[in-house]
Amino acid sequence: MSNLQLQFKALNYAAEQHKAQRRKGNESVPYINHPIKVTTILTQFITQPSDELIAAALLHDVVEDTDATIDDIINLFGPTIAAIVQEVTDDKSLSKAESKQKQIDHAPHLSSPAKLIRIADKIANVRDICGENIPDWDYKTKIEYLNWAEEVVRALGTFHDELQFTFKDEVRWGRLSIK
Ligand code: ZN
Repeated sequence: MSNLQLQFKALNYAAEQHKAQRRKGNESVPYINHPIKVTTILTQFITQPSDELIAAALLHDVVEDTDATIDDIINLFGPTIAAIVQEVTDDKSLSKAESKQKQIDHAPHLSSPAKLIRIADKIANVRDICGENIPDWDYKTKIEYLNWAEEVVRALGTFHDELQFTFKDEVRWGRLSIK
């Protein structure tokens, strides 16, 4: 399978899986726009992203948020991509507070593709939350999200200066702009 075939297969599968979901917020943005944004951020900052990184970025919320399983991802995309998706999938048996803490605790141990997806995901979410997309969150909830995202990104350690700078910049701008 060519690189583009693999990437479009991942995009198509993610779009199918997320088809009934919308992002939170008043614009009812289709959920698939979120993994597309995360993948776009990676292509902007990484000169030659691997096929596995791009496919895993497109698929990163499929197991957490749809009925797809890691076995489905192994069968369709192979064990390497599935392993990255697994790393960025929260354990659904944990409470919200527990899985938030687990993201912080596990951050230093993630593989490098998983770290890249994790930070691009946080950049995309901060942009949404501090922009027009999630107006139904109150100020306190937004601040709590920013604080937590900062903790997760800090725990990732030093791995990609530009992405880390961009994240910090988004948070700084977000804190000034949210109401
Ligand atoms: Zn995500």
